[in-house]
Amino acid sequence: MTAGIVHRSPRLRRTYIGISDYLRTGLLPQRYSNRCVSRLSRYKVARNSSPRCTAQRSISSWKLGQTEKSSAHPEQPPYDAALADAVGTEPVQNWTSIFRDFDTASQSVLSDQHSWKELRQLNAEWKSSPPQDLTHTITVYGYVTSHRPTSKAHFMQLVNPDLAESVQLVISSGDFVDNRENQEDKDGRRTSLSKFRDAIGAIRPHTPVAVKGQLLPRKSKPIKGTQVEETFQTLDPYIGNIKLLPHLEIHVHAIEPLNSWPKGLIAENGTQFPPEKRHLSFRTKDDLRDRIRLRSKLHSECTKHLQTEGFQEVETPLLFKSTPEGAREYLVPTRQKGYAYALPQSPQQYKQILMASGVSKYFQFARCFRDEDMRADRQPEFTQLDLEMAFADSHMVMSTIEMLVLDVMWPLAGRANLLDLQGHTHFNRSLSRSTSQTGLKLPVLEYGNAMAKYGSDKPDPRWGAEIRNIDFVPTQSKSMLSSLANPIVEMFRLNMKDSPPSEARGFVSEFMRLPSSAQFSTNPEGMPGIAIFDTSTPLNGLASFGHEAAVRIEELFEPEPGDILVAQTRQRRPFSGGSTTLGQIRQRMHELAVKHGLIDAPKMDSLLWVVDFPLFSPIEEDSPGQGGSAGICSTHHPFTAPKPGQDLWKLISAPLRVIGDHYDLVVNGVEVGGGSRRIHHARMQEVIFRDVLKMQPERLEDFRHLLNALECGCPPHSGFALGFDRLVALLTNTDSVRDVIAFPKYQHGRDPFVGSPSLLSEEQLKLYHLAVLNGTDAVAPAEPKISFRS
Ligand code: ASP
Repeated sequence: MTAGIVHRSPRLRRTYIGISDYLRTGLLPQRYSNRCVSRLSRYKVARNSSPRCTAQRSISSWKLGQTEKSSAHPEQPPYDAALADAVGTEPVQNWTSIFRDFDTASQSVLSDQHSWKELRQLNAEWKSSPPQDLTHTITVYGYVTSHRPTSKAHFMQLVNPDLAESVQLVISSGDFVDNRENQEDKDGRRTSLSKFRDAIGAIRPHTPVAVKGQLLPRKSKPIKGTQVEETFQTLDPYIGNIKLLPHLEIHVHAIEPLNSWPKGLIAENGTQFPPEKRHLSFRTKDDLRDRIRLRSKLHSECTKHLQTEGFQEVETPLLFKSTPEGAREYLVPTRQKGYAYALPQSPQQYKQILMASGVSKYFQFARCFRDEDMRADRQPEFTQLDLEMAFADSHMVMSTIEMLVLDVMWPLAGRANLLDLQGHTHFNRSLSRSTSQTGLKLPVLEYGNAMAKYGSDKPDPRWGAEIRNIDFVPTQSKSMLSSLANPIVEMFRLNMKDSPPSEARGFVSEFMRLPSSAQFSTNPEGMPGIAIFDTSTPLNGLASFGHEAAVRIEELFEPEPGDILVAQTRQRRPFSGGSTTLGQIRQRMHELAVKHGLIDAPKMDSLLWVVDFPLFSPIEEDSPGQGGSAGICSTHHPFTAPKPGQDLWKLISAPLRVIGDHYDLVVNGVEVGGGSRRIHHARMQEVIFRDVLKMQPERLEDFRHLLNALECGCPPHSGFALGFDRLVALLTNTDSVRDVIAFPKYQHGRDPFVGSPSLLSEEQLKLYHLAVLNGTDAVAPAEPKISFRS
């Protein structure tokens, strides 16, 4: 035989027979051609014959290549001209090599592999008691990543199929030389060694492989600190952070690539890939993989928890119908002329119908579709953990959600500490104090209070800076801030944690120069009045408010030198919408100060309920609302019930003053879910549609299915939906939901990876009875930016 290494062989059939012989007899085949033809040849190292490696317990037999099936694809298949014509003719030679490569990989007996779980178990056992003379012959699959050639051996990293664990592969050149049957001279050996290196070295990082070898305790263990750990967090240059199993290694007998990797394509941890190459981002970014993994875990643990609590998972249709629920919908044209489905904004109507159908506790991880402007925390299609409970009021649903969030999600994400509104820390599950008579654990803030204290219906109280009314400032000061007659004046203090006043001044100038701050200086309700508390200046920097007001401001806010005080005027009228100008400044100024390292980022989580929203809001330019002519729309959705105990005549006389039985869950200033008690009487629901929102009769008829269901003894019910993407983003400390969605949409709702949405062809337009008016604005997608090495 030529050498102890099996060179690349073009003759697969011969290779298979050779390997079979080897398995039966332990002898290597007599002769292999070393012409490199097949890209997927397997590389083999002679069996290690050192006493240490005498197999005493074989985990399985080596089956790779034992099958003779490859004869189905002989070197030169018969040329079928008719077939070639029919399929457009690729050169026969190409087909031959494509079929051969594919067949080679397919021959691998994937079912006969050893699991990484076994490796993990042995690694744990061998940490304390490595076997003396025990060795294991194993077959294991994974990806090769880094190579480390040394004079004695060639080391490689084998990463498991989940890209989470790795083990060292050792290909010992010493063994290789010793085991050669035909000893050659020194030069000959060197030539063979370099051939061996070429062959093994040609397996590019990320190549999926089958490895057969001997499992041995690892001789030189990597040391972390002074202790050898059970597993070892290490940075793989291609895959990112993984756990190395440090107590074992595989001495390779044979290694077989199961596919190829493009030459010149660099995919290293840290390479930035465009969305078009999402699969490469997965391969190289451990944080992306971890997020998707945690998402899956949260999904399954929440499912288990809800099922234990008696909830039933029910799937509802995705092909729904267009109904004016509040958001702009996506339509799905059909081949029936003029007819279309609409994708659901949420399963709201179906889940209420389930309540009317005798399902008492429903849940579903539901796909929802809304044709809204894209933002970092928005996607046109997203997932909600949606639930509904019959014979339940708001508080029953809120407690159910608290249990899910505090007992399942937060511990699973390893987040321990919560902060309450008084600034006290609680260890999440030991939140013993209920904040209301209803037994809820999380703080509850009314909408009006949230808007007054934090200028937001999604308040983040973690850095204080509560807004206070300073209507006591003199008229002259008010008129410097605003041209409004008798405006409300409010102020907050940003605690700059001992930054010198000069630094705070520079920071404020920078903040106001930001393009996103232009809206504050041009705000028709007035400009912000910003003061830096500075004891070296007249009235400590508050002179513009006059002596008396300056003293009261100091008493109210107790500022320290360098603290920033921001005043803002607004119209004297009830709150509406999601935030005030001062609330926005409070949020953004804090963000920028954290970004500049002037203030530490909050370390704890704040979870709270916001309740008592107005049932209706003035209609916004941008939102389709329910399409009624009353100039108002539902704040949550039109199925939300008014809070009990109100004068319901206000629905007709002053609908904007009616409070809705609606509750939002807010985490760290992000709305992660919302729900409400529903209107369960059909006639009351009709009043809302027809007499309050003033919907056209035909639009009201769009909801007839729901009204029919409510009419038939529907029980009182309430529900909630958690924005699952947002929640996972929050739990994994990322601002963008794109980081927690495997295949997200980007600008204009595009998925550049698959190239959706795609332009309809003439044929399709015809089939769906559609016409494109005024041509199309289709733009060819830009070429992906990608690192290729020539
Ligand atoms: N369907 C509502 C939403 O998507 C949630 C609910 O009220 O249950 O916001």
